[in-house]
Amino acid sequence: MKIDIITVVPDILSGPFSHSIMKRAQDKGLLTVNVINLREYTSYARAQVDDYPFGGGAGMVMMIEPLVNAIESLKKITQYDEIIFLSPDGETFNQKTANALSLKKSLLMVCGHYKGVDQRFRDHFVTKEISIGDYVLSGGELAAAVITDAIGRLLPGVLNDETSALTDSFQDNLLAPPVYTRPENFRGWRVPEVLMSGNHKMIEAWRQEQSLIRTQDRRPDLLD
Ligand code: SAH
Repeated sequence: MKIDIITVVPDILSGPFSHSIMKRAQDKGLLTVNVINLREYTSYARAQVDDYPFGGGAGMVMMIEPLVNAIESLKKITQYDEIIFLSPDGETFNQKTANALSLKKSLLMVCGHYKGVDQRFRDHFVTKEISIGDYVLSGGELAAAVITDAIGRLLPGVLNDETSALTDSFQDNLLAPPVYTRPENFRGWRVPEVLMSGNHKMIEAWRQEQSLIRTQDRRPDLLD
């Protein structure tokens, strides 16, 4: 899968994909992430990509022209399944969306900055708008990193244990059960006995029960 990300601050994205599972996904050739610097696509002086809002008011607005230059140039190489604009007023990201996007071949994500982007860009080029939650970030970069990570770890072969992603929270609308590791006894706090029993059927039943209890307790809305 290929994910291209357009940004005015490419440095923010130099970290999230260079370590751990996202690095492994790329090393294995299962995921390609390209970070594209929008400033390389502007024809304005001093690599300008934003300007004052028409009608006045605070903040700067990203201009449509550099964005369209970038997209039209990238589209010559890649046919995108979705052109995603990260935005607090987009549809809220969740595991279901991550699952659906992980089945796509190539995605383009556009990170806003400042006050956002010229609405005409959203109207005419964007196919999907995603928010990562009801709060405002200073730019779409961290949101793009969150979404790329959530999608990337779902690609077959990325996680070592193939079943691992399936037992995570939100798959099947359940939260994950508690997990424990060595030592068995720490300051008198013992690991639940069933986990030490070696009886896989009983362990599985216990985990299912714990998942349900945790979901009822913390996120009853998921069970509706
Ligand atoms: N004025 C805008 C916010 C601009 S924040 C508003 O009130 O809606 C600048 C950029 O950060 C946005 O264009 C978007 O790309 C990104 N961003 C901010 N919060 C986000 C969120 N919750 N999810 C996804 N992207 C977000």
